[in-house]
Amino acid sequence: MSDNEVSEVLVVGAGPTGLLTACELARRGIGVRLVDQAPAPFTGSRGKGLQPRTLEVLDNVGVADRLVALGRFRLPVRLYDAAGGYRDLDPREGQEPTPDNPYARSLLLPQWQIEAALRACLADHGVVVEWGRTVVGLTQEPAGVHVTFADGAAATARYVVGSDGGSSTIRRLVGIAFVGSTSEDERMLLGDVRLDGLDRDFWHLWTTPTGSVALCPLPATDTFQIQAPLAPGSAAEPTLATFQAIVDAVVGPERIRLRELVWHSRWRLNVRLVARYRAGRVLLAGDAAHIHSPAGGQGMNTGLQDAANLGWKLAAVLRGAPDTLLDTYEAERRPVAAAVLELSSKLTGQHPGTRSAQDSKQLLQLGVSYRGGPLAPATDGPGPQAGDRAPDAPCTLPDGRRRRLFEAQRGGHWTLYGFGVRPLSPYPSVQALEIGEDLLDGAGYAQQVYAAQAGDLVLVRPDGHIGLRSRDEHVITAYLAAVLGLVGAG
Ligand SMILES: Cc1cc2nc3c(=O)[nH]c(=O)nc-3n(C[C@H](O)[C@H](O)[C@H](O)COP(=O)(O)OP(=O)(O)OC[C@H]3O[C@@H](n4cnc5c(N)ncnc54)[C@H](O)[C@@H]3O)c2cc1C
Repeated sequence: MSDNEVSEVLVVGAGPTGLLTACELARRGIGVRLVDQAPAPFTGSRGKGLQPRTLEVLDNVGVADRLVALGRFRLPVRLYDAAGGYRDLDPREGQEPTPDNPYARSLLLPQWQIEAALRACLADHGVVVEWGRTVVGLTQEPAGVHVTFADGAAATARYVVGSDGGSSTIRRLVGIAFVGSTSEDERMLLGDVRLDGLDRDFWHLWTTPTGSVALCPLPATDTFQIQAPLAPGSAAEPTLATFQAIVDAVVGPERIRLRELVWHSRWRLNVRLVARYRAGRVLLAGDAAHIHSPAGGQGMNTGLQDAANLGWKLAAVLRGAPDTLLDTYEAERRPVAAAVLELSSKLTGQHPGTRSAQDSKQLLQLGVSYRGGPLAPATDGPGPQAGDRAPDAPCTLPDGRRRRLFEAQRGGHWTLYGFGVRPLSPYPSVQALEIGEDLLDGAGYAQQVYAAQAGDLVLVRPDGHIGLRSRDEHVITAYLAAVLGLVGAG
């Protein structure tokens, strides 16, 4: 698409959040452009963990299998003591997949690999990232947003998504406050290194008076990510020599030889959340809306789930749903981000072996729920409720082939399950399936995880959360009509 055409959505920033937002839009047939100021894809690791809930979201767009094939679910932590001894621990001990929860552990994989998989997904939908395009200006009119680039070019879109990271230009241009604090005392050096002399089957952690030094082997690469705390007032730069001195100080000289530094950065703690996620036709997502400590590996995950929440809503509004649907994005996602800020601040400085069971569980993000929100009418009764994550269950097709509920939900549509009852699809965008006929639930897993009675109807949103539970089809139809602005049964 050229600068002269009006695109439906312009996504600014091709990190993980922008890439998934663009995928969610493109797979629904929305005309989307994705621009990034960088000349080429980012090659440093930064984030290196996908939480189970994020894997479920990526399963829905069809990229989870590729990522699972590249990453690692199991990497024990080797904790060294001052006397040179160590103990190994599995921070996720006992967490194994269950029928309703296929990705029980976080998947270790460098962020650049995740971004590459998302770019491939986007290319499958005919969209490529426009590199080297820096947005410098933005004005809004009732029907669209005009954006200007650093090279003097301009573009117009009906909506703009600002997924341009913690220093977001889009956030500044629309005047949304980024409320919180920056700490000069919590800093670290980080980088990706090639080295000799260290086992790649452990995440190595040494405790020092200023914090932990970590060397983590990055799956599907020959590099380790190194993280080292910076003492207050230190002006050390992230060079190969600096990292070698840090490693020598914890293991002794000439034990581990760092050969090459392939990426490096300095980091300082920022804990900030936007006052609003939306200004007219401009929406913020990912680090542009929330930044916090990397402790617990939540940042990229929260951004990817912002994208899954926003993508289907923006596509629906562009196809006629009421504009107020976009306001539910902030109502649902801002409280999640606030909880992530709180948890990651609490975990900063703790090593994985000292986390409480409750905190460890929260990190998996499987409990993220929009209960009580604008799209989740209060219901009662057992089982997952409106707003909660819709659980998985292994079923079979009538011809005997296996079919998980998550596979049935794949594709970005709404799904209406009828337990022991044939649900009528109220609209073409809703896939209606009878549990018992279309999907056989021989072992009773689906019935069990939903605590469903014969005649129950469960409506699952395109982002894998429950929209509504009812026994009355008219209630389901009325709910969809209100959310999507539809009239008449299809
Ligand atoms: C040390 C470290 C470890 C981390 N570990 C984890 C982890 O284990 N798990 C986890 O979930 N997260 C982790 N994170 C956080 C994660 O890296 C970020 O949350 C993630 O990159 C945010 O993605 P994003 O797409 O929102 O923004 P970004 O990845 O920052 O992407 C923003 C993009 O916008 C582009 N851009 C900026 N301005 C403009 C402009 N004006 N015009 C056009 N383009 C622009 C940039 O070039 C960039 O490509 C870690 C971060 C660090 C630093």
